[in-house]
Amino acid sequence: MSDIVEAIENCIGTNAVLKGDAVRERVSVWGTNQPMEALAIVRPKNTDEVSSILRLCNEEGQPIVPQGGMTGLVKAGMPNSSEIAFSMERMNSIIDVDFETATMTVEAGVTLQEAQEAADAHDLMLPLDLGARGSATIGGNLSTNAGGNRVIRYGMTREMVLGVEAVLADGTILSSLNKVLKNNTGYDLKQLFIGGEGTLGVITKAVLRLRPKPKSENTAFVSINDFANVVKLLRRLEVSLSGTLSAFEVMWCSAYKVLTGDHSHNSRPFPIEASHFVLVEALGGDPANDKDRFENALGEALQTGLVTDALVAQSESERKSFWNIRDDIPAIRSEFRDGGVITFDVSVPISQMEEYLRLVENDLKQSWSNAYFYVFGHLGDSNLHLGVHVGPQTEHYRHDIEKIVFNRLDGRGGSISAEHGIGLIKRDFIGLSRTPEELALMRKLKVALDPKNILNPGKIFKLS
Ligand SMILES: Cc1cc2nc3c(=O)[nH]c(=O)nc-3n(C[C@H](O)[C@H](O)[C@H](O)COP(=O)(O)OP(=O)(O)OC[C@H]3O[C@@H](n4cnc5c(N)ncnc54)[C@H](O)[C@@H]3O)c2cc1C
Repeated sequence: MSDIVEAIENCIGTNAVLKGDAVRERVSVWGTNQPMEALAIVRPKNTDEVSSILRLCNEEGQPIVPQGGMTGLVKAGMPNSSEIAFSMERMNSIIDVDFETATMTVEAGVTLQEAQEAADAHDLMLPLDLGARGSATIGGNLSTNAGGNRVIRYGMTREMVLGVEAVLADGTILSSLNKVLKNNTGYDLKQLFIGGEGTLGVITKAVLRLRPKPKSENTAFVSINDFANVVKLLRRLEVSLSGTLSAFEVMWCSAYKVLTGDHSHNSRPFPIEASHFVLVEALGGDPANDKDRFENALGEALQTGLVTDALVAQSESERKSFWNIRDDIPAIRSEFRDGGVITFDVSVPISQMEEYLRLVENDLKQSWSNAYFYVFGHLGDSNLHLGVHVGPQTEHYRHDIEKIVFNRLDGRGGSISAEHGIGLIKRDFIGLSRTPEELALMRKLKVALDPKNILNPGKIFKLS
């Protein structure tokens, strides 16, 4: 056994450290069977233990890879065989839910769903929501600055974080568990760790901003025949729903076919005739009037021909069935199991989306006439999820496919990563979305905070 693992065991106990088969039994990439390779998995129980382990690792120059629920989609939590996986799974307490300040303080290993349920039990809401809620952790959500389904109304994770406690590479505990909305005392250091993908510190606790629990939830599924009308509907609902619009999830017909196809468990609300399908949701505080306002807004959209059809959910199970369509990632994986699918999460200004998608599709079809290209996304956030399948050799052509999808973003003011982060998967392309000056400053920050490069080395960018 390596000296460093033994030293960590002496520090936090042997039960807190997994080795050998116990490491390989875990997977290193979500949705695959790829066994985890790591020197060991260490599982601290509290911030002091995190600090002690990091101090030891820093002294020895031992790299570590922070891990939450391992639902990340860019291999940012994947260790190699000489790195130590640093799992937050035992730091999973909800420390408090404070109704008066409308905040909750949690340890980093609490799952998003546990945090949502705790807020709900106090008549409050944690608005962050995404399909992996049952496994993804608050530490992972912060480190990836996760987006999800309600960004249009409540912003990304960053907007929900008031305070962070993090441990630096040398073991220093930086505790800023701030509960106030306004705090302009110098640099806002927590922002270093939000979206940092575990490269600048290990997040141990967070104070999250909660919102009033909505009293009404209105959901509809609509079909539309023209992208221009999708955009018009979005803009119209933003006004007519008086600021209660909380989700506007668009599925291009290419995605709708798969999400409601043979490999899904979803029935089709509408036949595959329209060009776009949209899941609309509004969260409000005035049940009777909210419902009327919602139905009137969609009724008017129908009358004026903006939408071709609309179904308003009449029960919780109907509401869920609409969301199941949007969230059915397993259906996509199984549809393209022979060869797989290369997925992307790009952002493109709405005004350029149609042209961008047309050019990408043309480029793909030129190289692979049988290419299947599907699109869905959080339109209000300018965030598109694309998937490309070009047959059984899809994985073999990954880099060529990535070049097409990313290069067509050049000069459009979008981004190669809207919400999933960079990790290892998009590292080679970061220069398309960040200037050399921005990258140079990121490297300076990394060197200043982690001079021995022990925190998730090689993720986001290489140091040299
Ligand atoms: C079905 C599905 C749906 C998804 N939907 C969305 C979506 O809508 N929007 C979205 O943004 N993402 C989505 N994701 C991606 C993923 O769920 C998010 O990125 C999530 O925030 C990752 O949390 P995690 O705990 O699983 O982190 P992990 O995957 O374990 O880690 C992700 C990154 O965070 C770092 N990290 C984890 N914990 C800590 C910590 N305590 N301190 C420092 N660094 C840490 C890791 O080193 C790694 O760099 C989805 C994933 C799946 C599988």
